[in-house]
Amino acid sequence: MELKSNDHFDAVIIGCGMSGLAAAIRLAMFGRKVIILEKHNAPGGLNSFYSFDGRKFDVGLHAVTNFVRPGVKGKPLTKLFRQLRIDRDEFALCEQKCSKVAFPDVELNFSNDFELLVSEIEKAFPNQIDNFQKLVKAIHDFNEFDLEDKDRSAKKIISQYITDPLLVDMLLLPLMYYGSAKENDMEFGQFVIMFKSIYQEGFARPFEGVRTIIKTLIDKYRDLGGMRKMKCAVKKIITQNNNITALELENGDTITADHVISSIGLVETLQLCNDQKTKAEQSNIGKLSFVETITILDKQPKELGWNDTIIFFNDWQNFEYQKPKELVDPRSGVICMPNNYQYENNNELDEGVLRVTAMANYDQWTSLDEDHYAKQKKIWYDTLALKAMSFLKPINNDSTNDKDKLDNLKKQTVYVDMFTPRTITKFTSHLDGAIYGAPNKVKNGKTHLDNLYICGTDQGFLGIIGAMLSGISMANYHILQKN
Ligand SMILES: Cc1cc2nc3c(=O)[nH]c(=O)nc-3n(C[C@H](O)[C@H](O)[C@H](O)COP(=O)(O)OP(=O)(O)OC[C@H]3O[C@@H](n4cnc5c(N)ncnc54)[C@H](O)[C@@H]3O)c2cc1C
Repeated sequence: MELKSNDHFDAVIIGCGMSGLAAAIRLAMFGRKVIILEKHNAPGGLNSFYSFDGRKFDVGLHAVTNFVRPGVKGKPLTKLFRQLRIDRDEFALCEQKCSKVAFPDVELNFSNDFELLVSEIEKAFPNQIDNFQKLVKAIHDFNEFDLEDKDRSAKKIISQYITDPLLVDMLLLPLMYYGSAKENDMEFGQFVIMFKSIYQEGFARPFEGVRTIIKTLIDKYRDLGGMRKMKCAVKKIITQNNNITALELENGDTITADHVISSIGLVETLQLCNDQKTKAEQSNIGKLSFVETITILDKQPKELGWNDTIIFFNDWQNFEYQKPKELVDPRSGVICMPNNYQYENNNELDEGVLRVTAMANYDQWTSLDEDHYAKQKKIWYDTLALKAMSFLKPINNDSTNDKDKLDNLKKQTVYVDMFTPRTITKFTSHLDGAIYGAPNKVKNGKTHLDNLYICGTDQGFLGIIGAMLSGISMANYHILQKN
């Protein structure tokens, strides 16, 4: 679309990720003149997609969390469909098979049926089952969507119920890996959101991956007459007397708006403002970043006896969730096999896919020159592949040593890719490759400016469903309900 200098909008949305798209749809639905400005040429933000060598990849999608079956009312997914007027068939969500949390001597399987997790805890931690049920009741009674709620340590609160630190670690690992911006803890409200979305609701995935979801959102927005300008970064937010007076764009144009919702992150947004607030927020840059390896196999994982959808692993005596001292911390991580969903008509993805995620150190990855960067990627690819193999059935029963195990995997491998914290920042502009953004969130989305609001990751609702709900809530709360 053509954008002219001095164009005026009811609302500008910065960023065309999940939260920005959802906020924009909501505003367009109520007749607001709204535009999304996006720095890159592809929509989807942190959870976009790309093609390489004729293969289609999701940037990161392991699972759409918050899955509930048709007919279940009052849950985040159903609220999302209702607010965006999307038919649930459009997302084409297919349920996971089974996932697990695997620690050195104990495993907990879980699926989209919460009772499986309850029975697994009863078996592995018989002394804790009553405590667990009390925790579940406290989670049920908690209002995680209270936008004015204060920060509290999840670890402290959980430990008041569950007295075995191993079970605390096992319950926290998947929730932290899929959403905690804080080292070694979570904010309790976020713990509740993640507990419900992962253990009590569940995982699903469209057969075509994240592009199905993005296409649905883009089509919806276009049909509502919403405007979108790609490859159009916001360079500066010009302010006066606690208000935004204009937005300066990378191409030199200047536009104005009554309201601005930014989905690019709290500190990232404040850094665009030409006032003093920025300095105070520097300490709120997230420290947690990740690497992920992607291995394309010439077989379906189930042919190798790998039937889990997602394995959250830890092989250390306790679980440490913090920025590693080395380039990567391979002691814990996530193994995901997107093939292992219950696709309609027993459809199968064309190739086998094995994704392995682990915590990584942004500063170390960005300090490498090109040559060392490529070398380190290879080294850490092998380390993580080997680690994954220790949680998966051996490819050949006679593979006894690490070299054999790796060689056997490589014989089944047709393609590999890997992203690092450096890739994340390059493609999403999130400071320090921090996928889950700032440790201290702004739940009510308010900033120091009266007409600038934060949505998405740094507002505090998590994952792609959370991000969309965040966009919806911020558009409703700050713009639609005000008028
Ligand atoms: C590798 C990976 C795997 C993940 N896996 C899952 C998963 O399996 N399940 C799940 O639920 N969630 C997952 N997530 C998290 C999920 O993707 C995010 O929570 C969600 O997409 C965040 O959306 P958002 O709209 O808040 O932000 P973003 O997606 O970050 O959107 C912000 C957008 O703003 C743009 N932008 C930045 N600066 C500017 C500027 N100055 N001007 C204009 N535009 C700008 C960016 O390019 C970006 O498109 C994953 C994330 C990653 C990175």
